[in-house]
Amino acid sequence: MIRRSSRGGTAALWSGLSLCAVTLTGLVASTSPEPATQEVAAPENVSAATMTNEPYCPPGTEPVSEAERRVADPDAGPSDSAEVTPEQAAEYQDRLRRAMDRVRDHEAAAPYTVPVVMHVISASDGSGEISDARIDDQVDVLNRAYRGEYAQGSEGTDTEFRFELADVTRTENDTWFRDFGEQRDEIRAELRQGGPETLNIYTADLGSGLLGFSTFPQDYADDPDQDGVAIAHDTLPGGDREKFNEGHTGTHEVGHWLGLFHTFQNGCESPGDYVDDTPYEREAASGCPEGRDTCPEREGEDPVTNFMNYSDDACMTHFTKGQADRMAEHWAAFREGAPQA
Ligand SMILES: [Zn+2]
Repeated sequence: MIRRSSRGGTAALWSGLSLCAVTLTGLVASTSPEPATQEVAAPENVSAATMTNEPYCPPGTEPVSEAERRVADPDAGPSDSAEVTPEQAAEYQDRLRRAMDRVRDHEAAAPYTVPVVMHVISASDGSGEISDARIDDQVDVLNRAYRGEYAQGSEGTDTEFRFELADVTRTENDTWFRDFGEQRDEIRAELRQGGPETLNIYTADLGSGLLGFSTFPQDYADDPDQDGVAIAHDTLPGGDREKFNEGHTGTHEVGHWLGLFHTFQNGCESPGDYVDDTPYEREAASGCPEGRDTCPEREGEDPVTNFMNYSDDACMTHFTKGQADRMAEHWAAFREGAPQA
């Protein structure tokens, strides 16, 4: 399930993926008075590769025009299926457990300081340029989010991850800017800096509807050049992306980079997102629905305000202690100087 935001309402396709908005009353929950954001479902049992230009929409759904999503998949991009399958998640978990065995005696000391290299890719007409001040703001949002400063009441935790800006690169290249998905292997191979501990963030126009994507820590050993996070340039604080311009696309993607799945990974099925203190959730949230509970047979309402959901930036407030522990495990196993056996 993918969180998409529709604008306009004309039927259109996004890179070969057919998009369908759920129209069943009661499934659409949004605090917005205008029906700009809808909960949508991709056709079940239809992979991206088999989709045609003719959108298939299950009963109760209709085509939508534009998609917005944050994904985690080393191969994620405009032409790829974006979601992590249950089998892929299990494989990542297995690799984590094996790596944890290798680093059993290796205690990463908190706080965990992550050097950050920002790669700003822009077009010759100035599109995508980002000021140093806004880059600082993005790093500040990361630090506040991972410290737990957006959390309300007793929710959330200080994850003990800290981010320090180490370098900024600026590249003016129209092709790279407008076609990041197709060019991403070359871009990252050319620009990436540091080892597994260094967070490389690329900003560009990621194409219609794609807010960002990230690799997982487990991917580093096989493909170190490609390790990192890409976010749409207009999602940084103060950007033009309505509802997604407070910097939490960065917060969310870095969560993947540190090993977290979406809160709706595996839906209502065990083991969910492999974190014990995030309630189960059948599918991504959008907007900021209150009291949503898509797995009523499971304990707790949906974690709508968790950073690893698809809610609006203003709705996202926290990581849980379980997520913090999971990120620390990945940091020790794959990133912070751990043996890469
Ligand atoms: Zn994601």
